[in-house]
Amino acid sequence: MMRGARRALADIEVALARMRDGMYGLCRACGSDIPLQLLTAIPKTTLCLSCQRTTG
Ligand SMILES: [Zn+2]
Repeated sequence: MMRGARRALADIEVALARMRDGMYGLCRACGSDIPLQLLTAIPKTTLCLSCQRTTG
């Protein structure tokens, strides 16, 4: 029952850690800005749309 919430919390902590590093919102593959719309939909995403397509 708590497993889902715990997992979501972990995702948020990862996002916060990246924010502290100044890396949040930047694609880890190509370094370009990840659209805010995508970050809002998938807060833990670390790849921009085009890199997600290429890496599958
Ligand atoms: Zn990219």
